[in-house]
Amino acid sequence: MTTLTFESLNPATGQVIGSHPKQSAQAVHEAVGRAETAAAWWDRLGHAGRRRRLLDYKAVVTRHLRELAELVHQETGKPVADASLELVLAITHLDWAARNAPKVLGRRRVSSGMLGVNLAATLEYLPLGVVGVIGPWNYPVFTPMGSIAYALAAGNAVVFKPSELTPGIGVRLAELFTESVPEHPVFQTVTGLGETGAFLARDPRVKKIAFTGSTATAKRVMAACAENLTPMVAECGGKDAFIVDADADLKAAADACLWGALSNAGQTCVGVERVYVVDAVYAPFMRELSERAASIRAGEHYGPITMPGQLDIIRRHIDDATASGKAIMGGTDSVRAPFVDPVIVEDVPEDSPSVREETFGPTITVRRTRDAQEALELANASAYGLAGTVFARDARRAMELARAMRSGMTAVNSVISFAGVPALPFGGVGDSGFGRIHGADGLREFTRPKAISRQR
Ligand code: NAP
Repeated sequence: MTTLTFESLNPATGQVIGSHPKQSAQAVHEAVGRAETAAAWWDRLGHAGRRRRLLDYKAVVTRHLRELAELVHQETGKPVADASLELVLAITHLDWAARNAPKVLGRRRVSSGMLGVNLAATLEYLPLGVVGVIGPWNYPVFTPMGSIAYALAAGNAVVFKPSELTPGIGVRLAELFTESVPEHPVFQTVTGLGETGAFLARDPRVKKIAFTGSTATAKRVMAACAENLTPMVAECGGKDAFIVDADADLKAAADACLWGALSNAGQTCVGVERVYVVDAVYAPFMRELSERAASIRAGEHYGPITMPGQLDIIRRHIDDATASGKAIMGGTDSVRAPFVDPVIVEDVPEDSPSVREETFGPTITVRRTRDAQEALELANASAYGLAGTVFARDARRAMELARAMRSGMTAVNSVISFAGVPALPFGGVGDSGFGRIHGADGLREFTRPKAISRQR
């Protein structure tokens, strides 16, 4: 029987990089079967054994960092330096998950609250079995590794379906795993288009799906999971807000705002898309922002738009924003497919698609607000709730605003910094999804708590 294949392309050049199988329902079924056997063996290895193997894997990935960064660069178009940073972050998470799983998940005694009954009680977090990970293309290593590393450290086997745009790096990550764990296929990659992910989500032997991607796809995956009551983590899109209060360090805020909006060409789930600046510092902040943005060019400072269809959304949002607001920088001409130069537009009505929908490009809308409270209310008036930023010198006020922001994560006087702290849980509310990856919560996400009470 012939196997259907698909090609991966370099989005910057259109050059074919590789050809990969479109894995059938049968192929996914077989991979899950192998994973079930591997999961039982991996569980028996225990925390100490898994920790050692995962730290070996970390060493293997670190040794191959250049090769992997080059592959990410080829498949996404992002600069090699950005791809390397993504790998370093992924390695940091792998290390944290491996070292902390025994402490977070291992068996512990729980004291009995029942008077007069001689009970011994223990709690431990047991693996689920096979975990399916479905990943996006924008950070094709960092993002899925935020689930894969934690699921493996918790004692599960993983079947990973990478995005059809970045299959090569997904395949290579699993190939390298066999160098440190040759005995059983504890970590496998299956390639194909969306339907391959759907085969995985529908398989009743998969005990959890860790999905990262758009909100629309998350709903389809959730419907597939519902067939077997398979639980799911949904890491979806965002429309992150950036608040600048009256006492903010404006130079630092402008630097952070541009980095958050433009790095990875804006193709970041926690990228800055909406900026709210209090009236008292609006003019000087905009001066700082415009001065810095003036010298930034796509293709020089950041890479192309990886997914061709995304260019249509970005173009539509630029048209929408510039038609109803005032362009401070760029406009429709900023789109030079597959590149998009920075676009900054102010005074766009809050109910416009460019303010409400995820753009996933190097564009921001900026709005003047009466005060920080109004900025907060506008920031929170979004269906999304992934992350956000607050710039304010008064530490108490900054913490109050950060806490009141309707988001899973908020950075204060920095941007996206939470992603580099493996101990912090990562995930959103509302249309940005549910469940948490990273940190102790991320480890527990891939387990079932097991309570045992024993009469002495
Ligand atoms: P996507 O189109 O939703 O795809 C995500 C993954 O789902 C891909 O592997 C895709 O496969 C697969 N898929 C598509 N249809 C499916 C189905 N019916 N059943 C099972 N799997 C299916 O998202 P994307 O364009 O790759 O990524 C961009 C989105 O991800 C943005 O919205 C971004 O904000 C979000 N994101 C969120 C986070 C976070 O942590 N919250 C991190 C990064 C990205 P194919 O590629 O073959 O279609």
